[in-house]
Amino acid sequence: MTVHRSTDVVVVGGGQAGLAAGYHLRRLGVDFVVLDAQAEPGGAWQHTWDSLHLFSPAAYSSLPGRLMPVQPGQECPDAAHVVAYLRDYEKRYELDVRRPVRVLGVHRDGELLRVDTDSGIWRARAVISATGTWWRPFLPAVPGRGVFGGQHLHTAEYRRPRDFAGRRVIVVGGGNSGAQIAADLAYDTELLTWVTTRPPRFLADDIDGRALFDVATARRRALDAGRADTGGVASLGDIVAVPPVREARDRGLLKASPMFTRLVPGGVEWSDGTRAEADAIIWCTGFRPALSHLAPLGLRGRRGRIATSGTAVVDEPRLHLLGYGDWTGPASATLIGVGRPARDAARKVAELVR
Ligand code: FAD
Repeated sequence: MTVHRSTDVVVVGGGQAGLAAGYHLRRLGVDFVVLDAQAEPGGAWQHTWDSLHLFSPAAYSSLPGRLMPVQPGQECPDAAHVVAYLRDYEKRYELDVRRPVRVLGVHRDGELLRVDTDSGIWRARAVISATGTWWRPFLPAVPGRGVFGGQHLHTAEYRRPRDFAGRRVIVVGGGNSGAQIAADLAYDTELLTWVTTRPPRFLADDIDGRALFDVATARRRALDAGRADTGGVASLGDIVAVPPVREARDRGLLKASPMFTRLVPGGVEWSDGTRAEADAIIWCTGFRPALSHLAPLGLRGRRGRIATSGTAVVDEPRLHLLGYGDWTGPASATLIGVGRPARDAARKVAELVR
C-alpha cells in the first residue's frame, strides 16, 4: 500500500545545499522533511576521488551556523573530512533527513505539490530542490565514441591512480577535475595524455578558494548594486593551482595537447592524422543539474533551462532551486556560498506556507 504523508516543505536532496536549507527552515519554525537518495550523509563528497582536497581552509568551507573544524595536519581538508562535517551538521541541528529516499517526480496537486518517491508519496506546500550535479555527468558528442575499444570513464567514476597502473590513459578536460586527475595519474600510468579544448589557464599560485570566494562576492555586490559585471572567477583562469597540480605542472608532467577530432578503435586521432593509443579515456567534461524529478512540472524553457528569479522558479513559485551554481545564486554550489541563497529560499517558502 502506498504511504501518503504531508509537511509544509519537502527539500529534495540531503547534500550540503539541502542541509543549509534545512538549517534555515528549522530556525524559521517551518515544518519540513529532507529526502535524500543516498544511504549515508555527505552528498557527492562520498564519491569523489581519494586525493581530493578542498580548495579552501576549513573555516572558509562552512555552512551556516557551524564552522568546519580544522582537519589535523591539513590546511585544506579532504573529502572524508567534509563528509564527517556534514554528518555531524545534520545531527547537531536535528535535521529530519530520510534515507535512502529517491524522489521520482514532483507534480502539481491543486494547492499542493505532490512528491512521488520510491517509498511513498509526500504532499507539501512548497519544495526546495537541492539535488546537485554529480548524478548527471556530461559527456560531449565526439565522433567515434562507439568504436573505441578501451574503457570510458567520467570524473564521477575516477577514484585512484593505482586502478590505472601500467595503462595508457587519456584525460579530457581543462578544468579543475581534468587538471587534478591528470596530476594524480602523472606518476603511475604507462603513458598519460592530457587533452584540453584550449590551452590550460592556471590561476596564480596564491589564489585559493578564499580568494575565489572574495572575487565571487565582489561580483555579486557589483551586480546587486547595478554596476558592471566584474567577470567573476572565470575571468581569472580555469584551474586552481592546488599543491598536487602545482607540483606536477612544475615537474613538466602537465603538458596539454589540443582536443582530438575523433575516437578510433585503439585510441584517439587528431585532424592531421596523428594518433595516441589508449586503454582508457577519462572524460572530465563536467556535470549538469540533476533535475529529472522536476520534469512532470514542464518548466524547461528555451535551451532547456528553468527560469528562476533568485532561487524561486518563475513559472512555479512554490518551487525553489538551490545549489546548482551561479544560476541559482552566486557561489551557491560551494560550501561557504550556499548559506545565503539557502536563507533566501527558506524565507520565501516560510512566507508561502504561513
Ligand atoms: P550534492 O552534494 O550532489 O548533494 C545532492 C544530494 O541530493 C545527494 O545526496 C543526492 O544523492 C541527492 N539526490 C539527487 N537526486 C535526488 C532525488 N531525485 N531524490 C532524492 N535525493 C536526490 N565546493 C567547495 O565549496 N569547495 C571545494 O573545494 C569544492 N571542490 C569541488 C570539487 C569537485 C570535483 C566538485 C565536483 C565539486 C566541488 N565543489 C567544491 C562544489 C560543491 O561544493 C560540491 O559539488 C557539492 O557536492 C555540492 O553540494 P550539493 O548539496 O549542491 O549537491
